[in-house]
Order: sequence, then structure tokens, then C-alpha cells
Amino acid sequence: MTECEICGAEIKKGHARYIQIGTSKLRVCEACARYGTAVVEPEKKENSSSLLARRRDLYQMERDIEIEELDMDVDMEDYGRKVKEAREKAGLKQEELARMINEKHSLLRKIENETITPTEEVRMKIERVLKPYL
Ligand SMILES: [Zn+2]
Repeated sequence: MTECEICGAEIKKGHARYIQIGTSKLRVCEACARYGTAVVEPEKKENSSSLLARRRDLYQMERDIEIEELDMDVDMEDYGRKVKEAREKAGLKQEELARMINEKHSLLRKIENETITPTEEVRMKIERVLKPYL
């Protein structure tokens, strides 16, 4: 059963009207259609696209949470050496790890040589991959 989103009356199949009031789109009965601007809204299309958008948001949220929850408790002292050891324990080559974290091989080499200090973002990516070995 479909109900009018304004008055709550039952809408018979095929008699739903779609209107816009401000920024919200409503499915209403014929009597309430006069309260807003009529829009052509194929119901199924609208539903599936908003569902997809919602699923995308959810996915993004999960990813954000995952990043937040990753604790950054690896001591920065000897960081490069720790990364190198963990990488070797994981059986990865420098270029393989670099590819996994989507960073340049040269960057990873500099991190391992302790020529540079990785940014928090890079550290998180490294630690996510090498966590069991760090
Ligand atoms: Zn109505």
C-alpha cells in the first residue's frame, strides 16, 4: 500500500503524484499535488539510485572508522628499521610493499633508510599491511 506523504491517504496504484516542496521530493495523492511543484519521478529509478548512494556512504563510513580505529602505537624510534624488518618478515620486497600502499618505491626506500619521516597517512598504510609483523 502506498500512502500520501502529506495527508497519509492511501494512493491507488498508478495514481501517485510526485511533487517538490523546497528541496524535498514527496510522493503524494492527487489532492495534495497542488501543494508543490510537480516533478516527473519514476519511483523505481529514484529508489535504486538513492539506495546506491546510501550504500556508497555506508562503505565510506566503514572505511573511515577502520582508519580511525587503527592505533598508531608503533614507536617512531628506529621506525625505518622496524618497517624493513616487518616487511622482510612478511616476505615482501620494497617495491611490492610500495605498490600495496600505493606509494613510490623511492619513498619507501627513504623511509627504511630513515632519510625521511613518513607522514601519518603513510604510516597508517604501512602499519595496516605490516601490523602482524611490527
Ligand atoms: Zn494527500
